[in-house]
Amino acid sequence: MRAYDVIVAGLGGMGSSAAYHLAARGRRVLGLERFGPAHDQGASHGGSRITRQSYFEDPAYVPLLLRAYELWDKLARDSGRDLITLTGGLMAGRPDSVVVAGSLRSAREWGLPHELLDAAEIRRRYPLFRPEPDEVALYEDKAGLVRPEATVEANLALAAGLGAELRFHEPVVSWSADGAGVAVRTAAGTYRADALVVCPGPWASRLLADLGLPLVVERHVQFWFAPRGGVEPFLPARQPIYIWEQSAGIQVYGFPALDGPDGGVKVAFFRRGEVTTPDTIDRAIRPREIEDMAAHLEARLPDAAGRFLRAKACMYTNTPDEHFVIARHPAHERVTVACGFSGHGFKFVPVVGEILADLALTGSTPHPIALFDPARAALTAPR
Ligand SMILES: Cc1cc2nc3c(=O)[nH]c(=O)nc-3n(C[C@H](O)[C@H](O)[C@H](O)COP(=O)(O)OP(=O)(O)OC[C@H]3O[C@@H](n4cnc5c(N)ncnc54)[C@H](O)[C@@H]3O)c2cc1C
Repeated sequence: MRAYDVIVAGLGGMGSSAAYHLAARGRRVLGLERFGPAHDQGASHGGSRITRQSYFEDPAYVPLLLRAYELWDKLARDSGRDLITLTGGLMAGRPDSVVVAGSLRSAREWGLPHELLDAAEIRRRYPLFRPEPDEVALYEDKAGLVRPEATVEANLALAAGLGAELRFHEPVVSWSADGAGVAVRTAAGTYRADALVVCPGPWASRLLADLGLPLVVERHVQFWFAPRGGVEPFLPARQPIYIWEQSAGIQVYGFPALDGPDGGVKVAFFRRGEVTTPDTIDRAIRPREIEDMAAHLEARLPDAAGRFLRAKACMYTNTPDEHFVIARHPAHERVTVACGFSGHGFKFVPVVGEILADLALTGSTPHPIALFDPARAALTAPR
């Protein structure tokens, strides 16, 4: 079969971006995907994803976000697609909550523009929200939403336009690597290339079994409601994205109302998934889950708790410390891996593609990725 420079296994958020960046650098790329383009079976579907810069997870993500924002604009321009909308964002909770304290730390450490609002100010500016008297919020202008399916489609179209060969409904069965190159096997045959980039999302434990990573896949549900009294006050020009940490550490996040098939106001719990696997995930939504979410909205954002429209399951692939895994494969210098995005990877899609292209072609990247080392203690400690 034809030889390629680089094979990309998995064309979801990260793999589609890697394929685009590699093709843009003039490489002959083969992309292999088990489902169709921009499908809804993995981690990159549901119409919207939050993006933000005052990153409560760790200030080490901020330089990557600053680069990602440049690349989001470029991707939107180059593809002519509507991919990113800045709505402003509220990171709300008690002052010592992870969401508020962590966001403030990143904002201060990196000098990111932000405001700290007390409960009265939150109510004054955003009357839809019902904060408790002792809750506050960090507000940042640069927060907003990105569109996962459109992003994957944009990456795939640009990659194909640059000559990448993209094969769908063709799962990778196995891969091997030696000094001479890589070989990737599917039901259709064996493909050879100089290098391999593996981005399997929730299927990482399968395609990267040899790494022995302690990954846990979780089922997470995205809910859409029709706001009471109409969508006007919930449109992106008036309603920011938000992440709200409530008592007992429960985090709820939400979006303004979008148009079209993604219409309605979307909300979800951030870290309250149930452990599953990509083969056994229950995609049916239970009435109790809808009631639970409606009750949360009723208390905090009551106008959003109108008619339930729909819900959709999605998967997180969590590492124990909730930081990503992005690296050259420790045992194979021709193989680069990206997985374990732990429910917060999508906003990084363009910069992860750039990093994966760097690693696959040169073995290193100027971007700071030490936090994502698969050999870090949090991933290798006995448990
Ligand atoms: C409900 C929910 C809400 C989220 N909210 C946010 C948010 O607000 N902000 C944010 O930044 N992030 C968010 N995330 C996380 C973000 O969406 C993910 O981190 C990101 O989509 C992961 O991309 P990925 O490429 O690793 O996985 P995927 O997009 O799932 O891609 C993996 C691909 O590999 C393919 N594949 C697997 N095995 C094989 C094989 N053997 N052969 C060929 N192909 C294979 C799969 O079919 C899939 O297409 C959310 C995730 C969920 C589920």
